Amino acid sequence: MKKKTIKQTEPKLIIKAIGGYGVIGRNMTVVQYGDESVILDMGLYLNRYISFQESGEEMTSEALIDDEALPNDRKFFAKHGNTVKAIVIGHAHLDHTGGIRFLASKYKCPIVASPYTSRIIEKMSYDDHWQLKNKLIPLSINSSYKLSKNITVELVGVTHSTLQTAITVIHTPAGSVVYTLDYKLDNNPPFGPKTNMQRLRQLGKEHVIVLLPDCTRSDQEGHTFSEKVARSMLKDVLLGLQDKNHAIVATTFASNINRLHSIIDMGNLIGREVVFLGRSFKRWISAAEELGLINFSNQAQILSNGREYRRFLKEANANRGKYLMIMTGNQGEPNAMLVRVAKGDTAFEFMPGDNIIFSCHVIPTPMIQANRRKLEELLRRKKTRIFKDVHASGHAKKEDHRDMIKMLRPEHIIPAHGTTPKHAALVDLASEIGYKLGENIHLLQEGQELEIK
Ligand SMILES: [Zn+2]
Repeated sequence: MKKKTIKQTEPKLIIKAIGGYGVIGRNMTVVQYGDESVILDMGLYLNRYISFQESGEEMTSEALIDDEALPNDRKFFAKHGNTVKAIVIGHAHLDHTGGIRFLASKYKCPIVASPYTSRIIEKMSYDDHWQLKNKLIPLSINSSYKLSKNITVELVGVTHSTLQTAITVIHTPAGSVVYTLDYKLDNNPPFGPKTNMQRLRQLGKEHVIVLLPDCTRSDQEGHTFSEKVARSMLKDVLLGLQDKNHAIVATTFASNINRLHSIIDMGNLIGREVVFLGRSFKRWISAAEELGLINFSNQAQILSNGREYRRFLKEANANRGKYLMIMTGNQGEPNAMLVRVAKGDTAFEFMPGDNIIFSCHVIPTPMIQANRRKLEELLRRKKTRIFKDVHASGHAKKEDHRDMIKMLRPEHIIPAHGTTPKHAALVDLASEIGYKLGENIHLLQEGQELEIK
């Protein structure tokens, strides 16, 4: 491994774990070099955020920090808030972007993110009626932006479960800090670019001083299968549903544009009209259409308000064999479309033999698992057919992490985005490669920091 000697007089490089260490969510890390710093991600812990919303209390950043729905940046802000050169966002998922609404404006700096992520942030602000006060700098994937004499940010393209996801690289004179939240190494994606492996290998030859890996699935053996596998699973299930007497409903994450693309294609294949129902589809699809990344509107109806839903669901109830409906509610979210339909709150009624495809996994937290159980119970009572786990994850598993570490050859590793057992699994893997805990692989908890020597 390459070593660069840092003279005593050189500015210190410090990594600060603000959020997402010991928990899956509320991601936020600070890279401090000398008297300048960069914030990486500003996310929500969705479980806590949703329970907070349901409590009806006033949503202030202070209350949300106290409730652990937001990363606790109080100490960092008080001491170093004025040193922040930029907030860099790796991709648009809420556990990486959802805190912007509450925390970003107190930092007098721009937000740097890919064009798609930037567009989603703008839409969040518009749709949810809050003002984005930071300047937004859309930075193309696989390009760099100089933040100061000493700090340059680079976004390296990587595969994940939403569009234009980046591995964030913070270049400093001490070496580069590589932040891989979130990623999978999809060698065969059905749409869009592959991971920029060439650049990652190149970075490994330059000087990666710290790697901060996404540990969401680091405790699982093997390789995360390609999005093409999910596409093939969908095809397999849908080709088996050719009778015209029963409804077909698919549900997945609205942010997973490539998955939605596959569902549209399969709807065409079996001769059904594809219709999107649920508020969140509009945001994720329109952002991609505005950037010219997709064109779903010419292949599907994207309904977005109550009047359109009511009219369509009445029609679909009378012609249930005509459509492939894509609904929100894959995690059993109480107000999502699939849940409302399953409860019998709409003009569409499930009949025995109707088909529900869950193109997702269940996020393993008690509240979400309970919501999904309730939804499935409602669907079973209606004697529908349920197809679960028609899905490929967006997060790297153990062997992907091994490949990433070998490519980047970091001097130090600090596991991020995960619970303690997931961080421990990453430590085990790194130990197999030759790293030593406390020496060049380090475990941080929220609020802790590490000076890289
Ligand atoms: Zn993500």
